Amino acid sequence: MTPIELTKRQEEIIRIVKEEGPITGEHIAEKLDLTRATLRPDLAILTMSGLLEARPRVGYFYSGKSTQTLMAERLSRIKVDDLKSLPIVISDKGSVYDSIVTMFTEDIGTLFVVDEEGCLEGAVSRKDLLKITVGGGDFRQMPVGMVMTRMPNIVTTSPEETVFLAARKLIIHQVDALPVVINTKTGGDREVFKVVGRFTKTNITRLFVELIEGH
Ligand code: ADP
Repeated sequence: MTPIELTKRQEEIIRIVKEEGPITGEHIAEKLDLTRATLRPDLAILTMSGLLEARPRVGYFYSGKSTQTLMAERLSRIKVDDLKSLPIVISDKGSVYDSIVTMFTEDIGTLFVVDEEGCLEGAVSRKDLLKITVGGGDFRQMPVGMVMTRMPNIVTTSPEETVFLAARKLIIHQVDALPVVINTKTGGDREVFKVVGRFTKTNITRLFVELIEGH
């Protein structure tokens, strides 16, 4: 996942392979006045990063892909499952007050509301809760169902979905978080979604920082 930053020698290897590839490691070493063993780590990095390709008995050749293309290819393979946070849920029997307390104690901005089987019923955001305080009423008694957004209007993701597609949903639907769900059809036609995680803008921000720090 590291952004590819090449050393002077690696740049030189790429130049030689671009001009003369396919070329064996032995020949590259000769041109650089180095031993094959000295070059081995550089060639390993360049092939692992996808900049060079190696064919047995033929040698190295340039893949023709820019570091940006390679980065995009790698990023597009990351799955929601690799980044998702633990699901923080509240029971559909809970009150508006319970959801405010849970948001504070768990330090999160969106709660998912589930039934007793852990199946998705709705979502409550900070602004949903702010809205209800403006309207007045006794929110210790008020059920969370009165303020939440309900299924089937919840935008979801799944563990196998790519982070790219999930991130696009966050942008298109203008929400901060998606429940990560597994679709479990019950007896009838009704689709039931078990909540197994949370995918938020924070997950993407963390990925961004980690990529640049080179984790
Ligand atoms: P906030 O309202 O605090 O800025 P959001 O932008 O995430 O937070 O929420 C906007 C609205 O969308 C709220 O009414 C909330 O209930 C609803 N919502 C939150 N998450 C989802 C989701 N994954 N799918 C559909 N609606 C959602």
